[in-house]
Amino acid sequence: MKSLWNSLKLLIWPPRCVLCHRILESEAGRLCPGCAASLPEPFSGARRGSHYKRWASALWYEDRVRESFLRFKFGGCRFYAEHYGPWLANTVTKLLGTDYELLTYVPISRLRKRRRGYDQTLLLAEAAGRELGMKPVCTLKKRSRVKPQSRTLGPEERQRNIRGAFSVPDPALVRGKRVLLIDDVLTTGATVSEASRMLLEAGAKSVDVATLAAAPT
Ligand SMILES: [Zn+2]
Repeated sequence: MKSLWNSLKLLIWPPRCVLCHRILESEAGRLCPGCAASLPEPFSGARRGSHYKRWASALWYEDRVRESFLRFKFGGCRFYAEHYGPWLANTVTKLLGTDYELLTYVPISRLRKRRRGYDQTLLLAEAAGRELGMKPVCTLKKRSRVKPQSRTLGPEERQRNIRGAFSVPDPALVRGKRVLLIDDVLTTGATVSEASRMLLEAGAKSVDVATLAAAPT
């Protein structure tokens, strides 16, 4: 009976590639051969005027990655975190190292979390943290009323819009620590920069940022 159910389940919900959503022949791996072969190398860089020290990203936020991420965020594919996590962890160990005393993340507002049912960045941080041997700590709090970050705005205006969006309710959690800050997608960089500024203001020794994906500039 159980194997009949499993066969039916595979027929109704066949396993699909996490990135391009093509149907897979087996459940193992979760990436089709094409996507597995063309997964880009993680990359790092810095954006001018940022408060964090270093930044690295696993993927570019384009085409199949964007669509995959939207399924993760809005399309009920929460389990993608289990696949994204190792990519993110690999990005950290390869490009940033493992010399961190605190793993934290950029949270969504409480209102948004209530609507969506989960904080996708926390899921990511937990999955990456399992690989890195660190448990993410919630240190930042996001206000609900923050204007969305538009790419059409100039960098100064974006920075001004996001200013004051986060607080660190318990500075003792971050004081004197080398912090690794996780975010899902970096677009302008203004959000992680502002989150980093608040962590440093609360006494963090340094802040590096790792993102799952980054929009090309
Ligand atoms: Zn694929």
